[in-house]
Amino acid sequence: MAGYSIPTTERSTEAAYQQCLNPSCSATFGIDEAHFSCPKCGDLVDVVYDWDRLPVPRALSDFEAKWSRRLDPLCFSGVWRFRELLPFAPADRIVTIGEGQTLLQRADKVGAFVGMSTGNLMLQYEGMNPSGSFKDNGMTAAFTHARMVGARRVACASTGNTSAALAVYCSATDHGFKAIIFIGSGKIAYGKLAQALDHGALTVQIVGDFDDAMTRVREVSDRLGIYLMNSVNPFRLEGQKTIMYRVLEANGWEVPDWIVVPGGNLGNSSAFGKAFIELKHLGLIDRVPRLAVINAAGARTLNELYSAREVRWRSGLADSAKIGAFYNELDASGVKASTIASAIEINRPVNLKKCLRALEFCDGVVRQVSDQQIMDAKARVGAGGLGCEPASAASVAGAKLLREEGVIAPSDRVVCILTGHQLKDPTATVAYHGADQENFEKVLGSRGVRRAGFANRPVIVPNDLDDIIRTIALYSEAESAGA
Ligand SMILES: *Cc1c(COP(=O)(O)O)cnc(C)c1O
Ligand SMILES: [Zn+2]
Repeated sequence: MAGYSIPTTERSTEAAYQQCLNPSCSATFGIDEAHFSCPKCGDLVDVVYDWDRLPVPRALSDFEAKWSRRLDPLCFSGVWRFRELLPFAPADRIVTIGEGQTLLQRADKVGAFVGMSTGNLMLQYEGMNPSGSFKDNGMTAAFTHARMVGARRVACASTGNTSAALAVYCSATDHGFKAIIFIGSGKIAYGKLAQALDHGALTVQIVGDFDDAMTRVREVSDRLGIYLMNSVNPFRLEGQKTIMYRVLEANGWEVPDWIVVPGGNLGNSSAFGKAFIELKHLGLIDRVPRLAVINAAGARTLNELYSAREVRWRSGLADSAKIGAFYNELDASGVKASTIASAIEINRPVNLKKCLRALEFCDGVVRQVSDQQIMDAKARVGAGGLGCEPASAASVAGAKLLREEGVIAPSDRVVCILTGHQLKDPTATVAYHGADQENFEKVLGSRGVRRAGFANRPVIVPNDLDDIIRTIALYSEAESAGA
């Protein structure tokens, strides 16, 4: 039962390095360098460990020893208590604000909506992070790396949650970080914009969409030597691996049958795949869950490439001709990503290749769901107790679709990732439940949402005590009659 030794600074940093994902390049770089694409060939960069030289726990349950040491911030953090599995950082460089205190909740009401047997649907609620989304898992790791390389100015392009997390980490820590945020115009949910502004980030609003903002932030970071915090940053993904460790932990270290996650820039799905590749390699798990990545129909690049055009990982030689052809078609037709699920409103997912690797290792499937399906699922998630934003509900809508197709069985054990908090996007929620038809049309009708079948409408009553009492009685009767 004795624990294992904490890696020393020297050993942990030497045994970690960065490597180009492209097998015909495979260039390697030190952990003390910052590259957001391979300087030789431009491909994605991966963080790689020489595990034989690192102290790795014998069993996942060894991590339980950290629970009794929760006064140590590195044992308290839901990311860094697993730091033997992301051993790139010396302990005295780690930037943490207590992220990752999240919840795996059994959700029977939502499970019934999805079509699961009682007890078989679980929701991993990442909205409990300090900035209200899973992005904090990645930010703590990327800020740690930024601190290791001495960066001060940090930037990202964002559909909202990355910038919110970036702003929180800059304002809540004392290492001299300055936040610069690029957002597309009119594309950011109010809860998220509010965070960027409230936490004091320099917020640059570009006339364009997320994909435009992403292109610009890369150019500007290159030119000005600013540290890039988007999920092309491989250290972000190291932190996001821990979402899977916490799912296993909350499940008594048992591996579920399915992990279902929304897909935007595909950082999360890529990170989850890497987590399982490494856990399997280390002999810490004996089976691997299947991975389902869910696109919004209005931002369906992954589903189109994977499900329709059969683009695969192929040991890192994914079919770039097919990928390029699809992007050319998007450009030629002038199609822009469009969905109420703004966090996944992305047509050029930067981590596509890493996600293909995850899908291959986890025998994955990809699906797309409409905004109607997303909003209905979101309402059921809310009624089940844990509110989420639209993008998060894509996981539940996707699980329901896969259940209906028979790909997921009612007896499977399914974990849906709720990526972000309900209050991130109150506009969508109020438009769905509210009684204002004009607002419904403006916010949701324009997205092809026709019905609010699970709406919980506010009741409008005159300002009169008898009327109010009569109305409450009426609704209580209607409820008990309906039940
Ligand atoms: C960023 C984000 C996503 C998309 O995650 P990727 O890793 O980019 O695929 C989904 N949901 C929410 C709430 C997000 O903030
Ligand atoms: Zn390369």
